[in-house]
Amino acid sequence: MIQIKDKTFEVFIPEAGLAEKVAAVAERINRDYEGKNPVFVAVLNGSFMFAADLLKKIRIPCEITFVKVASYHAMHSTGKVKELIGLTEDLAGRHVVVVEDIVDTGITMEQILAQLRTHRPASVKTAVLLFKPEALQRDVPLDYVCFEIANRFVVGYGLDYDGYGRNLASLYVLREG
Ligand code: 5GP
Repeated sequence: MIQIKDKTFEVFIPEAGLAEKVAAVAERINRDYEGKNPVFVAVLNGSFMFAADLLKKIRIPCEITFVKVASYHAMHSTGKVKELIGLTEDLAGRHVVVVEDIVDTGITMEQILAQLRTHRPASVKTAVLLFKPEALQRDVPLDYVCFEIANRFVVGYGLDYDGYGRNLASLYVLREG
């Protein structure tokens, strides 16, 4: 058990379990993208550990680039707008794999995909560490998913609680009760 600020968390997926699934997803990508020179677009901050471990297991020629999602309240009917920042790579005609830590409602992924598509890539697929099916509100393509999890709050392996916990090698879940 660990304490982060005012909350207690317990181990949910240990380091070895994460490594095994990440390696399995990497193998599928190695097969599917042979000869395609994919460009991985990793979404910071949360995906930094997943992206590093995934890419270490990719053996085909590839590139990786990093983006951030900036949320702001705009004068817009849908409320929060999420803008993709830091994209310097020319994605036109490229096979893109978005690398994201977690898909919860799917709103973030939906907006990332919409903005990437304006760059006219040859294809776009998604690789996500965690997916919470119960929370999903948007129809987003989830091509490579390491773990489907219950609708609980998790930290570690890149994911934070109020900025803390990203450094943890295992994934932890908030203790209930
Ligand atoms: P969505 O737009 O799919 O609802 O949310 C995606 C974002 O919400 C993730 O990139 C992540 O920042 C945050 N998020 C959703 N669930 C969790 C969780 O259980 N733990 C943490 N640390 N962040 C989460």
